[in-house]
Amino acid sequence: MNNLLADADICVKCGLCLPHCPTYTQTQNENESPRGRIALIQAWAGRHLDTSKKLIEHIDNCLLCRSCERVCPAVVPYGRLINNFREQIREERDATLSVSLLKRVSHNKTAARLAQSGLRLYQTTRLQKMARSLNLPGLLRLDKVDRLLPDYHEPTALASHYPATAEIRGTVGLFIGCMGALLDHQTVNAAIKVLTAAGFNVSVPERQGCCGALDLHDGDKATYDRLAATNCGAFADNNLDAIVTIASGCGSQMQEYQQAEFAGKVVDISQFLIKSGCNLSEQLLPLSASVCLHTPCSLKNVMREEQGALKLLQQIPDIKLSPLPATVQCCGSAGSYMLDHPQMADALLGELLTAALTQPPEYLLSSNIGCALHIAAGLRERGIVLEVLHPITLIARQLK
Ligand code: SF4
Ligand code: SF4
Repeated sequence: MNNLLADADICVKCGLCLPHCPTYTQTQNENESPRGRIALIQAWAGRHLDTSKKLIEHIDNCLLCRSCERVCPAVVPYGRLINNFREQIREERDATLSVSLLKRVSHNKTAARLAQSGLRLYQTTRLQKMARSLNLPGLLRLDKVDRLLPDYHEPTALASHYPATAEIRGTVGLFIGCMGALLDHQTVNAAIKVLTAAGFNVSVPERQGCCGALDLHDGDKATYDRLAATNCGAFADNNLDAIVTIASGCGSQMQEYQQAEFAGKVVDISQFLIKSGCNLSEQLLPLSASVCLHTPCSLKNVMREEQGALKLLQQIPDIKLSPLPATVQCCGSAGSYMLDHPQMADALLGELLTAALTQPPEYLLSSNIGCALHIAAGLRERGIVLEVLHPITLIARQLK
């Protein structure tokens, strides 16, 4: 309680964060703003407000995009405040089936392997088509997960070490993450190809697991701490110059691990390549295509590494690169948010797609798997054919 009050009391109620908050912008309701939520937590922690369904709903409606934190002149640790509040009221909140399933698959390698086999069967036979025509995902309340599934790709078995294929510049650990391992082999393979071509040995520790973001945002700090300890153990090799991530949702969470040595090594892959002084232009084929770049909130507001992808992509000769305008807010994916807040998630996605499609690009790029899946699902639902990729995948495709 004291921590909650101390953090909430930092807010001077200036309201500068309000125009930056997606849920406030959509609703114009102070209870759905950072300042309003802080005031609610302050009143609750000071015992002036009871725990109620309405209170929990206002806090749960927050995307944890942390746009408010980025612009706050008083530096309110907003993410910490919300996570601590959720930990204290954990017993009062109900987990949806989709989120429970997601956590089960992301924490347990046997469950992930079963999910992989299940997906192969579901997506490579007529099963998915039949299930959808009978609305089975909807009846089982799994439609929000089903809509996100990308086309099935057979996973490639990963080695624990990949040697540099150019003059050696160093050694990095590659963090794949639970969703990367299950649904995003394309980005994993691209990351290995680009890092080794840039002169880095790549270590892929088998013991690594989920980053724990879903658990922390769900108020389950004990599980989050356990997952953090597993990852710190997996990447304990002192020879690693950096721990490179291909999903900013995971990277942002791991930069906030209490284990400072580990946290200090975590960096987004594009930012890492730029910071290491890599210039790949000579190794890249030209690409005369229009490319729209989406910057995930976790990359912009938490990691603060949004320049990396932009600068790296600019190394592709002839590319016509357009970042989404700064006025575009969170896409609405926000971890498991899109599963249990579909209306808000779709409203935010609609605004993003309107901006992205003003001049329809040939590729839409995003550095976070959650955002990429949500955006791709939105495009499919609107009947728009447009490839959504991680920036590193486009770089890998252009390597000579
Ligand atoms: S969170 Fe920061 S920006 Fe928002 S009202 Fe409080 S002090 Fe002002
Ligand atoms: S984290 Fe995002 S959604 Fe939540 S209050 Fe801050 S700006 Fe609004």
